[in-house]
Amino acid sequence: MGTAIDELQEEHEALLQFLYAAPVGLVQTNLIGDVQLINPLSAQLLMPIVTAGDLTNLFDVFNSVAPELRSMAATFPHTKGSICEGLRIQLTAGILGRQDPKILGFSLMKIAPDRLMAVITDMTKVIAQERQLKHSVAMFEAIVTGVTDYALMTLDREGLIESWNTSIERVTGFLAEEVIGKSFSIFYPAGTISADRVSDYLKEADADGWILDDGWRLKSGGEKFWGSSIITPLQDEIDEVANKNFRNENGNHHYALILRDITDKHMEADEYLRTIFSDHLTGISNRRAFFEAAALELKRWRRHPRPLCVMTIDADHFKRVNDTYGHTAGDEVLRNLASVLKNTTRDIDVVARIGGEEFAVLLPSTEIQNAYLIAERFRKTVEAQSVWVSGIEITYSVSIGLSTMEHSITGLDELLQRADKALYHAKNVGRNCTKVYEETS
Ligand code: GH3
Ligand code: MG
Ligand code: MG
Repeated sequence: MGTAIDELQEEHEALLQFLYAAPVGLVQTNLIGDVQLINPLSAQLLMPIVTAGDLTNLFDVFNSVAPELRSMAATFPHTKGSICEGLRIQLTAGILGRQDPKILGFSLMKIAPDRLMAVITDMTKVIAQERQLKHSVAMFEAIVTGVTDYALMTLDREGLIESWNTSIERVTGFLAEEVIGKSFSIFYPAGTISADRVSDYLKEADADGWILDDGWRLKSGGEKFWGSSIITPLQDEIDEVANKNFRNENGNHHYALILRDITDKHMEADEYLRTIFSDHLTGISNRRAFFEAAALELKRWRRHPRPLCVMTIDADHFKRVNDTYGHTAGDEVLRNLASVLKNTTRDIDVVARIGGEEFAVLLPSTEIQNAYLIAERFRKTVEAQSVWVSGIEITYSVSIGLSTMEHSITGLDELLQRADKALYHAKNVGRNCTKVYEETS
């Protein structure tokens, strides 16, 4: 007859065996994340974010990529239950063309008043498949939905509208004579598309067979709707028999643009997208959204390079802000930082919170000199203002690192590393300044 202790021991052994053999990562911790049990698969999955082999606290491990986990666990009000389920955590950007970005699925359960269990899975492949599926579904819907809900037009090689079906008026409110001969960017709200981007879209459509672009669109009266645009190159019969290489030179190259109003569907999906692509604290893009947008931007760059800069930002002495005014005030400062940053950048820039008090901005079509001016404008705005929290005035500053895309750079990770090196340099020379990456730094 075993004693209660023996039974506990047995139970523990069984749990250990289960942990070891489980096809998912399992980590058991106490309430503040100190690791009690961990299986080998977890260690393997967490490897990219574990610094110097230190796997003693789960929240420390995740702090740079999912800083919200700690407070989600700390504020969970029940003695048992699910704290989060299927959270997608972006670890690395991946090296374009060679390696996929790494994304983990993360669920956290409170299994006893003093115990948490994390379930970790590798979602990298699932997400690539999902993206593919999303494209296929959009294409399929565009083809099969009735003639009533899409506008079809043809574009010339420059993206100027040549002809369309009458549905354009129903979808956009524009009359033919108002748009014929104009760029299709007329359907985009000001600041959300550039001339560079127009030509990128056409080149991408040529290279991939089609391109899908969902986002805000404009009706003739200025009203916005959420639209889905698909652009495909058109091959007319004469050109098809001709050598493909000649097609672009004889000027006979056209595209079809299918524009749909998917506002209703978008609103349904919006809540879901918000949870996976936006940062819970500041409302701006999160790390995952940043990496996805940046990967796309780099893919464009590989096809037709043009100035592309990245800026990383880290709040100065932020521990001091937390220690002096409290964590809640610290959070308020981070919200302020995000909103000032958003206000000093353009709509086509990708502005994201990529870590606890670390932010990044991707600046397409921007020379490094201009990126520097933007960074300095932002830095000086932060320096000159203050944040008021419960009647207390808080001032703070930021340090900024900048890098620019070059052929020798293997991918996003390296581009970001360069900006981080420059940021580190800015910290070293006294903070509250902007530094540009230099080969020797
Ligand atoms: P440095 O100028 O060298 O950057 O100094 P620092 O104090 O900012 O140092 P570091 O970047 O290492 O510290 C980051 C601090 O930011 C530690 C962490 O407690 C705090 N922090 C991270 N995420 C959050 C958050 O979501 N809210 C709050 N209030 N603080 C956070
Ligand atoms: Mg930091
Ligand atoms: Mg800092």
